[in-house]
Amino acid sequence: MIRKYIVVKGVVQGVGFRPFVYKIAVNNNLKGWVNNNSKGVYIDLEGKEDNIEEFMYRLQHEAPPLSKINEVYVEERPVKNYTDFEIRYSSEEGEPLALIPPDISICNQCLEEIKDPLNRRYRYPFTNCTNCGPRFSIIKKLPYDRPVTTMNDFKMCSRCEDEYKNPLDRRFHAEPNGCPNCGPRLFLLDNLGNEIKCKDEIKEAISMIKKGKILAVKGIGGFNLVCDGNNAKAINILRNRKRRPRKPLAVMMKDLNVVKKYCLVNEIEEKVLTSNKRPILILDKVEKCELPGELAPNNDTIGVMLPYTPLHYLLFEEHMEVLVMTSANISGQPMIYENNEAILKLNKIVDYFLINNRDIHIPVDDSVCRVILGEERVIRAARGYTPISIDLNKGKKVVAYGSQLKNTFAIANEERVFISQYIGDMDNLETLDSFEKSLSHFKNLYKIEQEVIAYDMHPDYWCNDFVRNENIEKVSVQHHHAHVVSCMVENKIEDKVIGVALDGTGYGEDGRIWGSEFLVCDYKDFKRVGHLNYFHIPGGESSIKEPWKILIGLLYKIYNKDMHKFLPKSIDIKKVRILEAMILGKINSPLCSSMGRLFDGVAVLLGFNECVSFEGEAAIYLQSICEKREEGFYHYTIDYIDNKYLINTDEIIIGIIEDLRSDINKGNIAKKFHNTVINIIIKVCSKIRGDYGINKVALSGGVFNNEIILKGAYKGLASKNFNVYIHKKIPCNDSGISLGQLIIGRERLKGGLENVHSGTS
Ligand code: ZN
Ligand code: ZN
Ligand code: FE
Repeated sequence: MIRKYIVVKGVVQGVGFRPFVYKIAVNNNLKGWVNNNSKGVYIDLEGKEDNIEEFMYRLQHEAPPLSKINEVYVEERPVKNYTDFEIRYSSEEGEPLALIPPDISICNQCLEEIKDPLNRRYRYPFTNCTNCGPRFSIIKKLPYDRPVTTMNDFKMCSRCEDEYKNPLDRRFHAEPNGCPNCGPRLFLLDNLGNEIKCKDEIKEAISMIKKGKILAVKGIGGFNLVCDGNNAKAINILRNRKRRPRKPLAVMMKDLNVVKKYCLVNEIEEKVLTSNKRPILILDKVEKCELPGELAPNNDTIGVMLPYTPLHYLLFEEHMEVLVMTSANISGQPMIYENNEAILKLNKIVDYFLINNRDIHIPVDDSVCRVILGEERVIRAARGYTPISIDLNKGKKVVAYGSQLKNTFAIANEERVFISQYIGDMDNLETLDSFEKSLSHFKNLYKIEQEVIAYDMHPDYWCNDFVRNENIEKVSVQHHHAHVVSCMVENKIEDKVIGVALDGTGYGEDGRIWGSEFLVCDYKDFKRVGHLNYFHIPGGESSIKEPWKILIGLLYKIYNKDMHKFLPKSIDIKKVRILEAMILGKINSPLCSSMGRLFDGVAVLLGFNECVSFEGEAAIYLQSICEKREEGFYHYTIDYIDNKYLINTDEIIIGIIEDLRSDINKGNIAKKFHNTVINIIIKVCSKIRGDYGINKVALSGGVFNNEIILKGAYKGLASKNFNVYIHKKIPCNDSGISLGQLIIGRERLKGGLENVHSGTS
């Protein structure tokens, strides 16, 4: 007989790990105990060597689906002669290092139960077990236990309590456990918040949706706005009430068969759609797709997810196929997640509310992904994905405040960084509140008192007041350096790389707006070695919403006063004169080197004549009109000035105008422009490799959400024998930069890294 003492670290709490250990220990006739504390799971085992070996094998190969083992530590100890095997209760000492599992879609076993008329949870919309259900969104404190979740408001009935206490039950220590007798329940309300008494809230809600009504439905991490996805009239009403003219609306579809009816789905996409994270996946529509165009105007893709809560499954009863399922918020503000707030803020947008009395402690949006180059790439990391954590070498406790738009923050204790869920655009008080609340939640959960703040160097960013008021060490970080470093960290690259950061806006060290940056950099420092030539953007910030102003800046640079001849007819000549005067007088016409703005200007040349109603709209238009087979590109020159490669945009614009005058198809022109950008990336990287002997390239920044650019640059660089690194779990857009900021902040004060893991997988 021997005794082994085992410590298991990773995602091992709230995922049925102890009952699993109990089962395989008892099966192997082993004695001892298993315990959970904030550092992980501890196991003390006694028995025959063969049996312990078998135990160790099963521990690592049959662990519960939501768990993730990062480390197993084993030590031989003197035999104690235990008489049985027991599960001991959580002890609270020590720093809470165990990882919180994310919110997970309903499992198959629970799904069977809600479909079974003989089961006591038949059609119960809050069914869950240790393998599924809410986690991150209901946890107030660690270690994870029912009293520190929002389920503490519900006292379990005796049958639920029996399940909860039985180590062999699927619901052993399933903290959100409940049933129709003791758990949360649904309420249907009118738009004034009055309860509508009815026999079956779900059936009633479906019949309202079928009549074209709009509902706010409380899900796992917040409220969604819901209407019939096949009813164009209802979608238009929703768009009008929400003042959201064109931004694509995500939909939820009944099952994979319905998805395949409307969208092209490959094997990898199928896997992502049906994974227990259940993100919104951006898919190409089938040719002659019968979905209403109103869901995603001028767009050949659509964001689709499958049901992920029991309630969602039940909403697809009665032959419902497609539901609009978009975050419920007031334009630009964070998602609404509290009942009272929902009634207060949404009563003019929705006709009815389908709410419940289980509180959400921390709001979590739906996540968004796209499969590109054969792999899932996260665009927005939230439900199912967060919290994301990465192991680091020992270093300072840093908080990184993230970006202005698409904000997330990152916070590190001495040896691990945690990245927050998607917070949103920081230009209103509500999002700032949400940021503060989430940050203090993370500090509490992981018991971190920060020593250093890392933040974006932009002098007008939202965080300046926050930063000023903190009396600790501060590191200001350049936006594009942060982009590239976040890509490096994700790919575990620690030596120097060529960083290519292409995006809309980031404050540069020279006080100008950067956005097409070729950097030679490591975690600590960067050198700017190439970028697009500067051009004026008359009207400054306002040009982001009114991209025709950017075109004026681009044309002015080439033609000066003669530019009038080259303007699209849609542009009002009187307004052009004003902008011209602004550029000449140097009034609110900052210089920028932004690739995103170049896309905007070209989109206007090619017929985008609207105001931008959501970020990236003009660029998405340009991408969507591309004639995929076109392989030509525009000529351009690269100057070498002050040790930097400056890409001259003039000939590109001139080439496009010439093509337009020769009546070349706009789709071909758009694709030629994309090809040109890819060509620039490859050429400039090759020049930098020649100068610095660096072969590793990291691609980051929101422009790489553009599939044509990402694929083209990746393949083109790889064919020139570069080692190319791109984003996967960390978004390439601004929601990814908090990680980069944090690592730069830490590195400037010393650090390093080991291991990346995101929730479960
Ligand atoms: Zn389950
Ligand atoms: Zn019960
Ligand atoms: Fe950016």
